[in-house]
Amino acid sequence: MKFQAIKGVRDILPPESALWNQVEQAAREVFATYGYGEIRLPIFEPAELFARAIGGETDVVSKEMYSFEDRPHELLAPPTYGEIGPYIDQLKTWLENGRIPQDDDNKFRLVSLVQAWNDFKAKPGDRSVDTNDLIAVYQMGLLRDAVKLGPALTLRPEATASVVRAYIEHGMHTRPGNVKLYYMGPMFRRERPQKGRYRQFYQIGAELLGPSDHPALDAEVIEMLLAFFARIDLKGATLYLNSIGDRNCRPAYIEKLREELRKVKDQLGPDSQRRIETNPLRVLDSKLPEEQAVIEKLPRIAEHLCDACREHYAELKRQLALRGIAYEENWRLVRGLDYYMRTTFEITATGLGSQNAVCGGGRYDGLVELLGGPATAKGIGFAIGTDRLILSLEEAGQAASAAAIDVFLAWFGAETYPVAVALARKLRERGVAVELPAVEMKFGKSLSLADRLGARYAVILGEEELAAKQFTVKRLADGDQRKLSETDLLAYLLEARAA
Ligand code: ATP
Ligand code: MG
Repeated sequence: MKFQAIKGVRDILPPESALWNQVEQAAREVFATYGYGEIRLPIFEPAELFARAIGGETDVVSKEMYSFEDRPHELLAPPTYGEIGPYIDQLKTWLENGRIPQDDDNKFRLVSLVQAWNDFKAKPGDRSVDTNDLIAVYQMGLLRDAVKLGPALTLRPEATASVVRAYIEHGMHTRPGNVKLYYMGPMFRRERPQKGRYRQFYQIGAELLGPSDHPALDAEVIEMLLAFFARIDLKGATLYLNSIGDRNCRPAYIEKLREELRKVKDQLGPDSQRRIETNPLRVLDSKLPEEQAVIEKLPRIAEHLCDACREHYAELKRQLALRGIAYEENWRLVRGLDYYMRTTFEITATGLGSQNAVCGGGRYDGLVELLGGPATAKGIGFAIGTDRLILSLEEAGQAASAAAIDVFLAWFGAETYPVAVALARKLRERGVAVELPAVEMKFGKSLSLADRLGARYAVILGEEELAAKQFTVKRLADGDQRKLSETDLLAYLLEARAA
């Protein structure tokens, strides 16, 4: 049996992981200068949190989430036939005292189960040979197994819902000023794996929550994002911008859009046809070539914004101009998640083929209230797809700098080993990366291994050096070789390292 990582999920190995660390470190540094602090979130949350926040009609919630039923460890496994009566009584107690989810599904199944059980008991005669009874028993088994013993949990497909959940749970709206949080970590979506699209992928994101929805905040969030991209030297970052209205003007626009879409329904593919009813904004997102001409003629949200939204958008554009930030407007940029309103944006980068969006973001003023928090709290944020960011950097020729090893410490003769161990410790304490062979190697082999490991220096410790209380140090790039005392060796290596 050979094990492999599951489909759509991958390992990130050294030296590539060093580039990941550099990118994440740059994010930490840049975000800190804008006053953001890190929030570390759970990887799994109640399924209901995402259904609520993201919206049931989105691709993410309707088909991409990894959800499972949790079961409190003390709850029993389903019973065998003979135990069904006592088990049903047990289920009733658990439902009453909240040990199992008190939802409508569970209530309905329990009522049906009690009914089926009573019918079954009421029948006289020898049950073991009656086929109808076997069917009844089978049906009871199905009902019994359908009872959810624990809550539904989901591996997070994104993190904004969790950030808002945490913001409410910890009463963070009482903190002074705006609450500025960033996060980084894995997200999970059941998608068709391809370049730049994985089932476990990574995001670096930030959220600003607070009482104000001033466009200067939107502009500063975007400025921070672009400052980060500039810091890591991302090539060809292009900012696309849109405003998708709010609860005053969007519903009317959506109705208008739906009306127009119904008229051209037969020119659209099955996905778009379905979305006319479920989520018409998403039709604008379509990449199907044959739908483009039709979509271009649809009504545009910019012409249907209410005054407040139009002013907000105009001020955002002024604020961006003031910061020298270039953007392109894209009226079809609606984003995949329902909670966005007003400002939406996306950033693309080069070298990524069709999965070229490295970041999506926008304003979500109603979300805090939707999840049970204070109606006054507004929010804006973004999520960067780290996998795609790294891919784009690599396509542009970036690799992690720093050689893995500074010193390969080759020792020869058992009596030299304790000195080698002590020297390795001293070097490592000073931040020098050392490779120390566990067993004695032949001279030629050890130097060739040092070379293949990419070590910059080989330090050689043989009987001769031991007797003279010296070390031979060889610079592998040019073969320069010298004999030094321990003090001089430390000084030499530290100086070389700093250079
Ligand atoms: P797409 O349109 O590419 O599916 P999305 O709108 O679903 O993206 P968001 O939910 O806005 O993406 O997430 C923000 C960013 O996260 C995206 O711009 C992208 O860089 C990244 N991302 C989203 N899904 C994946 C995935 N399955 N694999 C890798 N990166 C992803
Ligand atoms: Mg997607």
